[in-house]
Amino acid sequence: MANTKEERVFNPSRDFSKSAHIAGMEEYRDLHKRSLADPESFWRKLSDEFEWHKQWTILRKWDPPRCRWFEDGELNITVNCLDRHVLAGKGDKVAYYWEGEPGDRRSITYKELLSSVCQTANGLKSLGLEKGDRVIIYMPMVVETVVAMLACARLGLVHSVIFGGFSSDAIRDRVLDASARCVITSDGGWRRGKIIPLKSNVDQAVSNNGCPSVEHVIVLNRCENTIQMTPNRDVWWHDLLSEQATTCEPVMVPAEHPLYILYTSGTTGKPKGVVHATGGYMVYTATTSKIVFDLRDDDVYWCTADVGWVTGHSYIVYGILANCASSVMYEGAPDHPDFGRLWKIVQDYKVTVFYTAPTAIRAFIKWGDSWPNNYNLSTLRLIGTVGEPINPDVWNWYRRIIGGNKCPIVDTWWQTETGGIMITPIPGATPTKPGSATLPFFGVDAEILREDGSVADTDERGLLVIKQPWPSMIRGIYKDGWGEPGHDGEFGEQDRFHETYFGKFPGVYLAGDAATRDSDGYFWVIGRIDDVLNVSGHRIGTAEVESSLVSHEAVAEAAVIGVPDELTGEAVAAFVTLKSNYNAGDELQETLRQHVAKTIGAFVRPKILRFTASLPKTRSGKIMRRLLREIAMGGEIQGDTTTLEDINALVDLQKQEE
Ligand code: ATP
Ligand code: MG
Repeated sequence: MANTKEERVFNPSRDFSKSAHIAGMEEYRDLHKRSLADPESFWRKLSDEFEWHKQWTILRKWDPPRCRWFEDGELNITVNCLDRHVLAGKGDKVAYYWEGEPGDRRSITYKELLSSVCQTANGLKSLGLEKGDRVIIYMPMVVETVVAMLACARLGLVHSVIFGGFSSDAIRDRVLDASARCVITSDGGWRRGKIIPLKSNVDQAVSNNGCPSVEHVIVLNRCENTIQMTPNRDVWWHDLLSEQATTCEPVMVPAEHPLYILYTSGTTGKPKGVVHATGGYMVYTATTSKIVFDLRDDDVYWCTADVGWVTGHSYIVYGILANCASSVMYEGAPDHPDFGRLWKIVQDYKVTVFYTAPTAIRAFIKWGDSWPNNYNLSTLRLIGTVGEPINPDVWNWYRRIIGGNKCPIVDTWWQTETGGIMITPIPGATPTKPGSATLPFFGVDAEILREDGSVADTDERGLLVIKQPWPSMIRGIYKDGWGEPGHDGEFGEQDRFHETYFGKFPGVYLAGDAATRDSDGYFWVIGRIDDVLNVSGHRIGTAEVESSLVSHEAVAEAAVIGVPDELTGEAVAAFVTLKSNYNAGDELQETLRQHVAKTIGAFVRPKILRFTASLPKTRSGKIMRRLLREIAMGGEIQGDTTTLEDINALVDLQKQEE
């Protein structure tokens, strides 16, 4: 059995480095230093690759918490993601290989995507929507979802994508918050052989004046599902588009024009409506896409995230299209019709770069090695993860079973608020250590601080901060600290925005995560600030105890929280799900408690250890420890549960407590 404390270092293979965009550590260090010392020339060179309607002259303005990049520049992001490539003669390159859950397939080239986007933009224009208006997109993983996002951007409309797994209440909250004039949805989407009734969820949210701002609902026919159409409000996508031209003049916007609002996953509380601006976001997501995924012209890239999360926005849509790359997009569940679905897709489309989340990898492990082993995954050359700290044992499995022991792993740390990848290995350069996101990307000035603002020592746990603004940084929380000067006053105080990110250390971005830095300068993200335990004065991250549990052969997943304890201040409570061929019982309970004591230390031996069929997670797959804490405290669940994936997981756990 592997040890949790993984000491091995994995160097990129010479083969990989030879042809990589950044070929070694010397180059990385030199560029990183230059990106911070002379940001003007660093970003100038990168931004010059794009089509600016009006060139910028001012790199950035930093008046915390407000930051602006390329402020006097003007552009349209769709010109850069589409027209630019078509004009360069790459119009016939495939933008997306799309596979529906029932097995239907479609591929769309850059030229075709541009036509669709223009046609859809003309449809939106015909409804009277204008620059700055907010449009909600609540769709399945189909090509039209990307088309809808880009059609908004073509016109300077601000989109807000809501993940298709959300219920009508969550839709209503977000539509109201964004005061959207239009909702784009579909009659349904496929999930495990069933139709998710997207349109009727929208109806429940907006009917009976539930969302007075909504004037139009556009409905894509995806599943031939029977739905209700409300006259004067609802229009079929195909009817709206039938008469529209396939060219559309892009609306040029200032670089700081909001591109979209996206609500965070709500792991720590009520979701925040994060506002991203156009120019800086484009340059940063394009640059990180190219370098972190080492994109080459012949790559087939696949990010398994839903477009409804920031990962989908940056690394399925904008950053990837800006590089003229070909991507795979899959509509349905990874376990449908069987556990081999994703690996069959990798094999069928000859995927070369694969990007997923630790929660997905833990599910793959639970399902057993034979599924991936049954498919040819040899086309893969780079694999990545995002979303949570990855347990070292999970990292090792990923490298061995999916990466064939040859693919570099990029463990990318970032947030909805950061817009793009912030701490990550550079695949041809950075030696990786399982469980560490390694080093900051270019232009990222990351540090670990103590509570008093001083810099933490090597290996000392502290708060992860970013000390300089970066191009794709959050511009505000919608209606709670996002205001354009001279705007009609719809946007309120700087309150939540300022307090959340800049309230602790003035002028320094507080990520809200706890981390350490080792003697090589590598960052180890432990989890949320709240997820650090203090047992008998020893501070330890929940992730470390979880990784110990997961390193036991019986354990599929674990969540650890602290509960008050008279003797030790805080004691460890662990919630554990088992792999399919193991049985819960007193004996295993004791074994696992011993296992933690042996691999970390007796002081963190879980006082409480519960077996459970599933853990409460956000719909983006993250464990919601705050709800487990409330359960363990024996009280009613007080916090926001609108982003919870499966309420039954909570109910079952609560029953156990009673
Ligand atoms: P909310 O802010 O509403 O609580 P959230 O933080 O889960 O929700 P996201 O922006 O989707 O919303 O997630 C960002 C967080 O995910 C980071 O702050 C970090 O805790 C975690 N994370 C992402 N990638 C990594 C990674 N590679 N390693 C460790 N943690 C990660
Ligand atoms: Mg967060």
